[in-house]
Amino acid sequence: MIIDGHCDTLWRLLANKQADLATPSEGHLDLPGLVKGGVVAQLFAVYIEPEYKPDRALHRALQYIDCFYRQMENCQGISLVRNAHEIRENIDRDVISAVLALEGGEPILDLECLRVFHRLGVRSIGLTWNQRNHIADGVAESGTGGRLSSFGVRLVGEMNRLGIMVDVSHISEPGFWHVIEISKRPVVATHSNCKSLCAHRRNLSDEQLAAIGRSGGVVGITMPPDFVSSDPEAADVDRLVDHIEHALALAGESAVGLGSDFDGTERLVKGISGVADYPRVLEAMKRRGFSDELVEKVAWKNWLSVMEAAWGEAVMEGAGDAKNT
Ligand SMILES: [Zn+2]
Repeated sequence: MIIDGHCDTLWRLLANKQADLATPSEGHLDLPGLVKGGVVAQLFAVYIEPEYKPDRALHRALQYIDCFYRQMENCQGISLVRNAHEIRENIDRDVISAVLALEGGEPILDLECLRVFHRLGVRSIGLTWNQRNHIADGVAESGTGGRLSSFGVRLVGEMNRLGIMVDVSHISEPGFWHVIEISKRPVVATHSNCKSLCAHRRNLSDEQLAAIGRSGGVVGITMPPDFVSSDPEAADVDRLVDHIEHALALAGESAVGLGSDFDGTERLVKGISGVADYPRVLEAMKRRGFSDELVEKVAWKNWLSVMEAAWGEAVMEGAGDAKNT
């Protein structure tokens, strides 16, 4: 079984590059592929294209969420989940769980917007994409040294209170450390790899990997070749397992999962052409000598545990302020 932390398939659907989830597609991810790949839960990202930012970001996000809901209504065998209990129930009845996620906080104009997104089912939010927004600086703006804005601080507090995972995959490094400092719940990176193995700006340093582990979070190891090796031609499933192994060593056995970036990248590591090929990643981990128990943790159990911790009820004093937007 697999839980995957990030895909951009909603973008393909909204752009009419893919008719629906149920029909076999030329992209990386469709329902037959999810079944074949053994995926039990998939995060679906709302990625706001640059031309909609900032003024039309909220409108665009609503179009994405409408597209997502229509897919859920029209496709058998997959359903929106709002908590970890529903994921477990879906596993028992062979239904794939779809988790709604935002990739970039541009549509979140205020805390009221955030709470409406939560009511619509959003359970993971990447605070930024690569650029600066009203919450923080993205990784392309790391040179500014900027941490979270005061709104960003209140936003993280309210996400903690509501139970929405805080995703730091695209944030600048100073922003990352600010989130680690203030978040009262686990911090996740849904689709990032290890910088010490491949110096991509979106990959995480050893210190960042360890901090995510200490927060109780998960790093979703991702499949674009340029995130895996400085020589993308050499990026194959075994190099991907190098990243898994390194992240496990730094973040801990409970802090590494998978976050493919299917349909968010043109190319994937060699040997993987889409979600149906996920068993090859599990086989490569077993060849590397991972125990069955560790393979299961990386494949799905770690994501499920962090979702439980990030979404479940928690008593937190002073986190968020429902009236203060
Ligand atoms: Zn991304």
